[in-house]
Amino acid sequence: MDQMNLLWAYQAEDMKADRLEREIRRSPLRQKMENDRTQYMEKQKQHKQIQDQVAQMGDRKDAIRDALTRSQDQLNALQKRYEVTPPTELEAVRAMAAEVNRCLDTITRYEKELEKIAERVRDCDKRADAIRREGARLRAEFEQLKAQFDEQYPPQKAALEKQRAVVEQKKAEIDPVLLEQYLSAKKHITPPLSRLTNGQCSGCNTSLPSAVLNQLRNADEKTLVACESCGRFIIKG
Ligand SMILES: [Zn+2]
Repeated sequence: MDQMNLLWAYQAEDMKADRLEREIRRSPLRQKMENDRTQYMEKQKQHKQIQDQVAQMGDRKDAIRDALTRSQDQLNALQKRYEVTPPTELEAVRAMAAEVNRCLDTITRYEKELEKIAERVRDCDKRADAIRREGARLRAEFEQLKAQFDEQYPPQKAALEKQRAVVEQKKAEIDPVLLEQYLSAKKHITPPLSRLTNGQCSGCNTSLPSAVLNQLRNADEKTLVACESCGRFIIKG
């Protein structure tokens, strides 16, 4: 068999394996498992977002603590100045008192912000806990479903494994470059190969332009030509 026909035969087995896999996936148990998995991943994402938020709040807390220390130093310096060189003029006393008040206001503002952050962190921790618990529940449920699935679906699983082995065998006969082209086309369209029938692509039933037909006619046995309308590789004959 030439490479093109080997590839065609490989596709037939590959499609059989995909069909078996789809049948298994359609089973209610498998769908519940998929659902649990999707939800679990969503929980993990949420958990990570909360952790990021907490880390950001931690940075903000550090910055406020630094600023708070600076304000307290400033206040101490003012007090010291007051003790060492007490102002005698009323205006100077007022000015100093105003400065002290500004300092105290700033300190109060920072302390309030720290309290608010602490409250938000507690709230985040609570939510993270709930998410962790829900994640653990989903995971346990998934494991339970998987055990049930393994118990109920061994014939289907065995059939799929057997078919996958056949696919692997066929794969070994095919040129790696062709195989790669097949697999990359399969990401966009499946099955990725079509036949040339009466000048048409059997995948999408479009009549092929003469340029493509010429390409096909002149192609050697390792060159794939794609249908311009559906993207499948066309196999002659
Ligand atoms: Zn086509």
